[in-house]
Amino acid sequence: MRKKVIAGNWKMYMDIAGAVNLITGIKAGLNKDSLNCDVVICPPAVNLETANELVKNSPIGLGAQNMYFEDQGAFTGEISAPMLKAVGCGYVILGHSERRTIFGEKDELINKKVIKALASGLTPIFCIGETLEERENGTTFSVVKTQITEGLKGVSADDITKVIVAYEPVWAIGTGKTASPEQAQEVHKYIRTMLSEMYGSDKADSVTIQYGGSVKPENAAELLGQPDIDGALVGGACLKADSFLAIIHAV
Ligand code: PEP
Repeated sequence: MRKKVIAGNWKMYMDIAGAVNLITGIKAGLNKDSLNCDVVICPPAVNLETANELVKNSPIGLGAQNMYFEDQGAFTGEISAPMLKAVGCGYVILGHSERRTIFGEKDELINKKVIKALASGLTPIFCIGETLEERENGTTFSVVKTQITEGLKGVSADDITKVIVAYEPVWAIGTGKTASPEQAQEVHKYIRTMLSEMYGSDKADSVTIQYGGSVKPENAAELLGQPDIDGALVGGACLKADSFLAIIHAV
């Protein structure tokens, strides 16, 4: 049975006071007895240490939004996997569409980060997804195929079940436009079929595939009810405790 994972990507929002407030609110509202998913928060890097203190002894896991693939060195502005581990991270978002489009990250770089995260004991939340133009010109499947083939190059069959894949159609991120449950399920099924061809069906059936793109309390249950949707990567709606909790409790 795959475990559903609800992860909140805070992006570049929340100072320390805001982070304390948000985490306190999430902790207070989390119904621990009926929780049937893993919950992860991914605050900005400067808030990770504080967040780690607050989520200790709670069911909330901690993740970062990015990292570099070297352990240390002259890489101004970057953060390494050992540094993330040292502040209590168990997860790291890699290849988010904002990293790909705004910061020019390519599959090859993202692949190095995925390999490093796995080697360091961090769970990569590996993001893929097509742009609106790619969907409209009918290349969604081939775009996703390339992102998976290149991004997961060298990931072993043993390690693939430690990867969380997040399918995030770029046209649905931060736009309020959600993929319909059927549109999302169609691509999730395709991703699982690809993983099955690469690693066998037993492994593919164990991989958590999250959906991301304007997930909110109103659409969460229907999306999460699809057979191949194993959770959500949530942006805007994770910045308020009430809406993040409503998505968690929709599982
Ligand atoms: C995201 O940042 O990964 C995301 C899905 O954002 P939003 O939920 O705001 O669309």
